[in-house]
Amino acid sequence: MALCRVCKDKGIKKEADVFLKEDKLYLCEQHFNERFEKNVLSTIKKYRMAKKDDKILVALSGGKDSMALWYVLNKLGYNAKGFHIDLGIGEYSKKSKEVVLTLANILKQEVIIIDIKKELGATIPKIANKITRKTCAICGTIKRYYFNYVAHKNRFNIIATGHNFDDEVSTLFGNILQWNFKYLSKKYPVLWEDEFFPRKIKPFALTTEEEIINYVKFNKIPYITCRCPMSENTPTNYIYKEILLELSGKFRGLRKKFYKTYLKDVFPLFNQQKEKYLNKKLTHCKICGEPSLHEICSVCQIKQKLKEN
Ligand SMILES: [Zn+2]
Ligand SMILES: [Zn+2]
Repeated sequence: MALCRVCKDKGIKKEADVFLKEDKLYLCEQHFNERFEKNVLSTIKKYRMAKKDDKILVALSGGKDSMALWYVLNKLGYNAKGFHIDLGIGEYSKKSKEVVLTLANILKQEVIIIDIKKELGATIPKIANKITRKTCAICGTIKRYYFNYVAHKNRFNIIATGHNFDDEVSTLFGNILQWNFKYLSKKYPVLWEDEFFPRKIKPFALTTEEEIINYVKFNKIPYITCRCPMSENTPTNYIYKEILLELSGKFRGLRKKFYKTYLKDVFPLFNQQKEKYLNKKLTHCKICGEPSLHEICSVCQIKQKLKEN
């Protein structure tokens, strides 16, 4: 391995521990960590995501992204509490909960855990069996519901998720291919709070997957490597990710330029006209009071269906 660029600039000869492909940069562990944390802090500040006195709820799946996010927010001095949903999907859920509790222990932080079986009376596989919708769609609806529910109930004003740059740039690419104007008019690293929802932030929007993989390794952050056994084999997004990685190998900096131009110049154009694209009116669920498109929200509808069966 070559020498660390930062050390070299200071006149020190130190072997690099990592080579970052996206930026063609050799760094030692210390300078990699410093750069990583500095970049996350500058993303938070640039998009005015959060201040030190905000109450942040971090949605933890147990995967590397959300676990790294919880770790780094704590390291940067933010008031960030962990939140995990036990979906009841066999070994996968058992292991996810285990790593979340391990990190809580390392950080000496509490974590809020919602058990779907206790809440709804059935695990995700059982619910999916009884309700004729795609499992991932049901699971997504339930997760979103409890993020908001737990944030409301415990007065968190911000929900943070671990979506990284690779996720963001590939979903953007996919949505541009389909000219999804609704997506383009609201997709941004920050979604501001309104009367229904708390603020939603993605502090890793400009942090690559490659950087996160190295950060969890150097800082010994526990996480699960297995994917949810119920998810589709090859999500479309994964294909877009691969295509973009291959392109950026040929044209240096292409992915970053594509995404940054969107944030700076394209998003504002669509966001100005968002009323045209976001025509759905929200209301409060008659049963639980949470935001809903219908009189009764999707989760209360699921509860009713489970009772009928
Ligand atoms: Zn160095
Ligand atoms: Zn409801």
